[in-house]
Amino acid sequence: MRYRASFMDAVAGMALLDAGGRLLAVNRAFEAAFGYPDGVLAGTDLRDLLPPDVAGQALREFGGLWLSVSAIRAAAGMGEAAGATVETAWPFLRADGEKRWMQQSLRILPGEAGHPPCALLQVTPLEGGNGRAGRDPATRDEERMTQTAFHDVLTGLPNRVLLLDRVESALKRARRHDHYRFAVLFLDIDRFKVVNESLGHRAGDELLRLFSDRVLPCLREVDTPARCGGDEFAVLLDDVEDTAEVGTIVERIQDALRTPFPVHDTEVYMAASIGVVVRARQYASAEDILRDADLAMFRAKESGKGRYELFDEDVPSAVPDKLRRENELRRAMERGEIELYFQPVVSLRTARITGLEALVRWNHPDLGLLSPSEFIPLAEESGLIYHLDRHVLELGCASVRALRERAGPAAEFALNLNISARSFRRWNMVESYSSVILESGCNPLDVRLEITESLLLTGVDAVTDKLWKFKELGVSLVLDDFGTGYSSLNYLRQFPMDMIKVDKSFTSRVHEEKAAYGIVQSIVSLGRGLGLGVVAEGIEQSEQAEVLLELGCLYGQGFLYSRPLPFERTVKLLERHCSLPLSAG
Ligand code: C2E
Ligand code: CA
Ligand code: CA
Repeated sequence: MRYRASFMDAVAGMALLDAGGRLLAVNRAFEAAFGYPDGVLAGTDLRDLLPPDVAGQALREFGGLWLSVSAIRAAAGMGEAAGATVETAWPFLRADGEKRWMQQSLRILPGEAGHPPCALLQVTPLEGGNGRAGRDPATRDEERMTQTAFHDVLTGLPNRVLLLDRVESALKRARRHDHYRFAVLFLDIDRFKVVNESLGHRAGDELLRLFSDRVLPCLREVDTPARCGGDEFAVLLDDVEDTAEVGTIVERIQDALRTPFPVHDTEVYMAASIGVVVRARQYASAEDILRDADLAMFRAKESGKGRYELFDEDVPSAVPDKLRRENELRRAMERGEIELYFQPVVSLRTARITGLEALVRWNHPDLGLLSPSEFIPLAEESGLIYHLDRHVLELGCASVRALRERAGPAAEFALNLNISARSFRRWNMVESYSSVILESGCNPLDVRLEITESLLLTGVDAVTDKLWKFKELGVSLVLDDFGTGYSSLNYLRQFPMDMIKVDKSFTSRVHEEKAAYGIVQSIVSLGRGLGLGVVAEGIEQSEQAEVLLELGCLYGQGFLYSRPLPFERTVKLLERHCSLPLSAG
């Protein structure tokens, strides 16, 4: 009973709630804070104390807290594990109908003596009244409290309430200015639940912080990011030019998320599904915009993880060009418009073929044969590259088999296939790509994967791991465009490469420029020192080949020997077993 008296007379406003949000007991300070006379609030509902526009979200948060605490208790064998105290940030509704910001904390108390657990809500009214129009906004305390009232404690980001307020202001501005445009993104982390459950809630919290750190630099200064609760985030993109600009920002976010997140001693891959409302200015309320962005997010999630979706799909003009071309490329794969050309790799000494590099082409029904530079960048931006590279790998493996059948087992060649660094970052790429190779029935020893240096700059351990898995299959690895990246030399030692390729930009000047000569010289000696094969690409003149050979580079490819050729012509070349170019052979 002493307990009860101190509860009733406490200076802090306190209420006990059940899991459904019903107020089981409230003290005097609590009722006073809301402007109610003594003894009327007990038995009422938390919902009655919240403004309608935040009630839903607040109750969801409340329910979520309840669940997470009961889960912890269950895991702890129903011990006395009292829940952690969380700071909440909801505005309340006073008896007189005025919105009131309070500093609040919420804590789940274990049930005692046959009573179910309950929640203790403690509130402290903010001095100066309604938060935004406080009388003395300069005082530090109030700033701090407003900070907790408007911001998410975990990430420090604005919360949903503040975001809605900003979106509301944007709507007002749109009504005044014809040319002002803004957009809203709704982000939901894919598979967050799994991570949270398998690594624990502390790691989950850490991930949410890392996630927000990763997203922030993708935004412009004028944008407002917010955490809406759980693993949901939203962003107000203020003052945007057009849909393409929105698309660029969204893709930047998805790009930024491709690098794994370091949590504990592991790396976690996290993608987000993003819903986008681009025509936000047409809406009547901020809530409606957020609802539609949320809906679009769901559609994005349904169509596969790590994707984004625009809400205005029924307005064709709103579909950005990029998305249309992305779909076109997707269909191109299904329709067999993606083809491989093959460029021979030769021994510089004998000019005989020792290998082939597969180079992708898009045989476009209207535009004709498109080279990779016309569609690879688009594929990389949209994430489609992963599927494109997998498709190319399928075609490549089938070609290896066909070439073997036609050219005979004695024909000396392996097929090099280019894999974009971005495809490599996909979490299940090793499994997926390995199964392509294994199921194709070609000999993995005939397959070489070409990757560029940029791959080696991210998540070194994860990358090494993936590379080794391919090596274990029997596949060889080639480092492409060597020398054009950053600190390749240091990395090279750590990765299980078999071969490096001297970039065209050096080959083309090796015979006439000291600097290029020096660079090629050191690449060759480095490669040979590490026991790697060295291939020079882009050889167009015989002087270049001579200098390269002199420097100890034994293999090369380039227009001097052959341009990339379609399959049938490649077969003919292999069948002849002769030196290149044919005219000279
Ligand atoms: P890369 O891997 O460095 O391929 C070599 C490029 O140089 C090819 O261009 C080839 O046609 C061109 N080339 C070869 N010999 C010479 C020469 O003597 N002189 C000149 N000027 N160029 C020469 P292509 O086929 O347009 O491919 C461009 C890039 O597209 C490739 O550069 C590669 O990074 C990318 N790519 C090609 N196929 C694929 C693919 O299947 N997947 C991915 N991810 N990327 C690919
Ligand atoms: Ca290549
Ligand atoms: Ca290259």
